[in-house]
Amino acid sequence: MSACKFRTGLGFDVHKLVEGRDLWLCGIKLEHTHGLLGHSDADVAIHALCDALLGAAALRDIGYHFPDTDPRYKGADSKNLLQEVVKLIDDKGYKIGNVDITICAEAPKINPHIPAMQTLLAGIMKVDIDDVSIKATTTEKLGFIGRREGISAYATALIFKE
Ligand code: MG
Repeated sequence: MSACKFRTGLGFDVHKLVEGRDLWLCGIKLEHTHGLLGHSDADVAIHALCDALLGAAALRDIGYHFPDTDPRYKGADSKNLLQEVVKLIDDKGYKIGNVDITICAEAPKINPHIPAMQTLLAGIMKVDIDDVSIKATTTEKLGFIGRREGISAYATALIFKE
């Protein structure tokens, strides 16, 4: 009888909201007055997800693999970073079980976009849509998120090896 090896990981990220930038969340461009500032497209939710997956495999963090000092990642599409993380997980012999993401933002409304986000991320990770949970919350107008100065995201991931 062979044992299945399960591992979990946690990811967290924050980016600042500024004028004159597009707002990307979970690979989808949302209509908003502000966008997230960063070296890449600043998709805070994908970054948290990448860190959860890397953490589950004990593969350090997103900044270690894709440094923000590296011109190759300037303006990078975070979907491509996730693609590379999925490859690293696969190279280490793990499969992705499920992921769970929470996006903390005062605005815009994220809920209408969740099905499209799930479909997109499931495609990149080659898992079922049902294995990708995405949730949104505000912070009741408290703190930097409540003041619309930034958006944060948390993610957990389960990976396994048979
Ligand atoms: Mg980031």
